[in-house]
Amino acid sequence: MEKYRVTPGATLRLADLDPADTGGIDKATAKAETKTLNRRLESQQELLYAEGKHKVLIVLQAMDAAGKDGTIRHVFDRVNPQGVKVASFKKPTSKELSHDYLWRVHEHTPATGEITIFNRSHYEDVLIVRVLGLVPEDRWQRRYGHIRAFEQLLADEGTTIRKFYLNISKEEQRARLQARLDDPSKHWKFDVGDLDQRKLWDDYMAAYETAMSETSTEDAPWYVIPAEHKWYRNLVISRILVDTFDRLNMAFPEQTEDLSGIVVE
Ligand code: ATP
Ligand code: MG
Repeated sequence: MEKYRVTPGATLRLADLDPADTGGIDKATAKAETKTLNRRLESQQELLYAEGKHKVLIVLQAMDAAGKDGTIRHVFDRVNPQGVKVASFKKPTSKELSHDYLWRVHEHTPATGEITIFNRSHYEDVLIVRVLGLVPEDRWQRRYGHIRAFEQLLADEGTTIRKFYLNISKEEQRARLQARLDDPSKHWKFDVGDLDQRKLWDDYMAAYETAMSETSTEDAPWYVIPAEHKWYRNLVISRILVDTFDRLNMAFPEQTEDLSGIVVE
């Protein structure tokens, strides 16, 4: 899955990557493998909590309708709901805006034994903020450095970080938004404001390219996930996460008491 990782220091060009890539696997095989990986994630989460040594942060970023919610639902399908936290970052409140942009983010980072998913994140502060010009350029330009330092701090203090950009084409977004309009039971998901952001598609792509090029590091890598086929998206993210947990070499803690001979009456 390393082919989807944004190499630290390299300049990313989204136009070179195929959002409809399926890695040559078919849907049925992919779904079966994802099911197996879902179960492995379930035990890995239990082990993470039991061991109480590591913290895991997953960052999800994408354009509207690219499938952030579906990803969370499918990849963590089997995981104990008590074992994962989701922090969703919306438009900042006036209180949040009166602080620095990382202020509201830090408190949601995972504690020891926890997995936290950021559904949107501090990256909005170099994405929508840059595209809409919500702060002057000299301010957002400095944020890439802050973000690298912030994530390095988290990593140095024991947080494993994986960041995923769900890559869909502009045409796929059109089709998904139109499908929401065509199905009254999906109208609640339709946000007219998404159409304004859609008009700025190219600016967003440029902002994503810079953000990922500037902040994909050894300890906090970005992955560009081909996301047009949901089953492949789920498979790739599941594989990356299971592999990440494997590398933590976790073990259940040793029982310090001698339990031999104890019988529960
Ligand atoms: P969904 O539409 O599936 O419910 P969502 O993540 O799109 O999920 P919304 O409430 O529709 O949630 O959108 C959140 C909006 O808040 C997005 O347009 C996002 O760009 C914006 N946002 C998030 N963080 C910031 C920020 N720091 N500054 C300005 N806007 C932000
Ligand atoms: Mg939305």
